[in-house]
Amino acid sequence: MSTAAAYAVSAPDGRFEKVTIERRELGPHDVLIDIKYAGICHSDIHTARDEWGGAKYPCVPGHEIAGLVAAVGSAVTRHRVGDRVGVGCMVDSCGECEPCVAGEEQYCIPGATMTYNTPVAPEIQADGYTMGGYSTQIVVTENFVVSIPEGIGLDVAAPLLCAGVTLFSPLRHWNAGPGKRVAIIGMGGLGHVGVKIASAMGAEVTVLSHSLSKQEDGTKFGAHHYYATSDRQTFRDLRNHFDLILNTVSADLPIDSYLKLLRLDGTLVILGLPENPLQIKPFTVAGYRRSLAGSMIGGIAQTQEMLNFCAEHGIGAEIETISADQIDGAYERVVASDVRYRFVIDTATM
Ligand code: NAP
Ligand code: ZN
Repeated sequence: MSTAAAYAVSAPDGRFEKVTIERRELGPHDVLIDIKYAGICHSDIHTARDEWGGAKYPCVPGHEIAGLVAAVGSAVTRHRVGDRVGVGCMVDSCGECEPCVAGEEQYCIPGATMTYNTPVAPEIQADGYTMGGYSTQIVVTENFVVSIPEGIGLDVAAPLLCAGVTLFSPLRHWNAGPGKRVAIIGMGGLGHVGVKIASAMGAEVTVLSHSLSKQEDGTKFGAHHYYATSDRQTFRDLRNHFDLILNTVSADLPIDSYLKLLRLDGTLVILGLPENPLQIKPFTVAGYRRSLAGSMIGGIAQTQEMLNFCAEHGIGAEIETISADQIDGAYERVVASDVRYRFVIDTATM
């Protein structure tokens, strides 16, 4: 066992405090990573505040991890000491079920081991459940560690490990590209990376944000159009318009109104995960043969493909770097949609 500094909350309404956690001894296929940066995803907040139920405390969130390899197990072939690497939402999966064999580990049937808050044997994590990236070090099996290409800074790469692949995966799955009209609802951590990636894929990109306050940024990130959803006229102007709509909003939305913005055979993909059920009218989807779908992060191979794509297109997240003692304040600002566009913790401050 080795020890690492980490920041944990002890209750849904708790504040982050510095703790010391144990990381396991390196097995033959394990990689020890010196974490340099950890992004703050809204999912961290949902979990730390127990908004999805089942949270375990003390909770060390963090699944947008970028760092350097510090040591490798005896049988590791994919990574070497000093390599620039990343870890996203998953640290393991069964490897045998149909989705795992297809490289879609996020849909592992027995359930992937998520980077934090997943029950595991004490040999994997002494606490009995996984502890995430708000920490100075982590041990991860080599197949769940991806390479961060030269040319993307580790700080702006960190958010790509979740936000990047969560948008890249549905954009690829639903064939975003030239001639396709793609809308992104919500331009926060996920949304802003989605705008950059969709535009680099050649799609015609529209942002649907609750106000026009970030329009200039949206245009800079590659959006061709920008509308405020607080204006009812938006829903009249854009009716039957889009091939693909990606909803990244962390709060409840009147989803039926957005479904009506899809043209014939269009698809609205749920990415944002608020806790309440959605309400849709059967006529809205039956008319124009619209589809309502969902998507979870992306597989490991696709995460690597996304990082390579981002390096090739000069895409990184827009970040505000914070020290570890600023996590509580950053959470408040994310919830208030006051983030431009991802907070990233500099673990040197731990
Ligand atoms: P975020 O940075 O807080 O961005 C969410 C955006 O939603 C905000 O910037 C805001 O955009 C919009 N929004 C927030 N509250 C709103 C409200 N009351 N009404 C209308 N719009 C509102 O969060 P994030 O990190 O991007 O995560 C977004 C959601 O995706 C979370 O629920 C998270 O758990 C989920 N998530 C899902 C996956 C997956 O695999 N499916 C992966 C990661 C995260 P505007 O200001 O532009 O309106
Ligand atoms: Zn996330």
